[in-house]
Amino acid sequence: MTTPAAVIPPQRVKDCARKHAYDFEAVRQDFPILRQIVHGRPLVYLDNAATAQKPRCVIEAERRLYEEYYANIHRGVHDLSMKCTEAYDAAREKVRRRLNAAQAEEIVFVRGATEAVNLVAGSYGRSRVGQDDEILISALEHHSNIVPWQMLCEEKGARLRVIPMFETGELDLDALDALLGPRTRLLAITHVSNALGTVIPVREIVARAHARNVPVLVDGAQAVPHAMIDVRDIGCDFYVFSGHKAYGPSGIGALYGRRELLEAMPPYQGGGNMILSVTFEKTIYNEVPYRFEAGTPNIAGAIALGAALDYVESLGLDRIIRHEDDLMSYATDSLSSVPDLRIVGTAREKIGVISFVLEDIHPHDIGTILDHEGVAIRSGHHCAQPVMQRLGLTATARASFGLYNTREDVDALVGGIQKVIEVFA
Ligand code: PMP
Repeated sequence: MTTPAAVIPPQRVKDCARKHAYDFEAVRQDFPILRQIVHGRPLVYLDNAATAQKPRCVIEAERRLYEEYYANIHRGVHDLSMKCTEAYDAAREKVRRRLNAAQAEEIVFVRGATEAVNLVAGSYGRSRVGQDDEILISALEHHSNIVPWQMLCEEKGARLRVIPMFETGELDLDALDALLGPRTRLLAITHVSNALGTVIPVREIVARAHARNVPVLVDGAQAVPHAMIDVRDIGCDFYVFSGHKAYGPSGIGALYGRRELLEAMPPYQGGGNMILSVTFEKTIYNEVPYRFEAGTPNIAGAIALGAALDYVESLGLDRIIRHEDDLMSYATDSLSSVPDLRIVGTAREKIGVISFVLEDIHPHDIGTILDHEGVAIRSGHHCAQPVMQRLGLTATARASFGLYNTREDVDALVGGIQKVIEVFA
C-alpha cells in the first residue's frame, strides 16, 4: 500500500522534518507547544512517558483530512471515501513497517495499549483460559497489563502469577522457568517499564516461553517511542502500543497479532465493519484485521499516527536513540550529584524514564514546585502501584524524555530540584 499522493503530498513530511541532522532548534520548532511560557518560564516538558507532544505535521494531517478528504471508510464508492480509505490503509502499512510485522493484516487499530490488552484478554483469553489455568505477568507491569488479566482470571477461575523483581527494577528471570507451568496459557510482559525505565529482555523471555508452548504478549507502550521494534525478531505473538506516546494523537494505537492467532480468535466487539454478512439467524464475520475493528474507527487518529511515524522516520530513529541515550546518561549523572536525591530503578538497561525521590519531600511537592519553574514532570504511582509497593514507596517523581529534549532541559530540571531542596531546607 502506498501513500495516496493526491491526498498527502510526500513533501509535507519532508517540510516538517526539514532534513536537519538533529538540529534541536529546528526539531523544537516542529512542536508548537514547546514554545510556551509556563509561570513566566519557558516550558521544559519532561512528562513524555505520560504522553508526548505533537509535531506540526501530525496536527496538519488531521486538519487536512477534515478540510480536504474526510469521509467514512470502506463503505463508500465516492471519491472522498476512496481517498480516505486509501489514507487509512496507508497508515496501517506504516504501523506494519514500524513494527516490522510480516503483513498489514496483522495490525489492528485500537484506542491504545489499554484497549489492545483488553482485546487480547477478551478474545484470545476468554476463548483459551479456563478453570485453574494461569496467566503470567511481571512485577513491573502498568495497571493496563494487570487488571484485564485479573478480570479474566476472576471470570474463569484462573490464577494470575507474577515474575518477581529486584530492588534495581530488573526482573528475576531465574524464577521464570519455574513459573512457566503446564497451566500457563499466556505470558503478558512489558517491554519497557513506565515507572522505572527498565528495558526487559523480551526476546529471551519469548524464547523461554515458547519452549513451553506459552504465547507472549509484549506491552510496547514505552518502547515504541524510543527503540527500533522488530516483532519478528522478538518472536512475540502480540505486541501493543499507544499512538499518543509516539508523537501521534490520543485515542489511537495498535495491536500486532500473528495472523494465525488473530484468525483463530473470536471477535471482541460486534457491529458494522466487522461482518461480511448479517441475517437474524447468523452473522459471518469479516477477515482480519477488520473483524476486530467494529464500527467507524478513529480515522483521523490512524492517519495522523501514520504522519507521526513518518516524522520519526524522517528524523532517523537511530539518531533519536543515540540522542536519548546521551540524555539518559547526562540526566543520570546530573541527578546523582544532587544531595539527598535517590534514583529509583537502577537497572543496567533503561530508556526514557528516570524516577527519583528526595528525602523527606513528597513527590507531589517536587512536581508542584518544578511546575512553578516551568518544568513539567509527573509524580505519583505512575499506574504501577505494585512496583511502588515492591519498593516500599507510595510515589516517585518521574522525569521522562522525548526526541526534542536537550541537556539544557536536564539542567533546568536539576536547577528546579535545587529550588525544591531550598524551599524545604
Ligand atoms: N503500558 C505502559 C507501559 C504504559 O506506560 C501505558 C501508559 N502509561 C500503558 C500501557 C497504557 O497506555 P494507554 O493509556 O495509552 O492505553
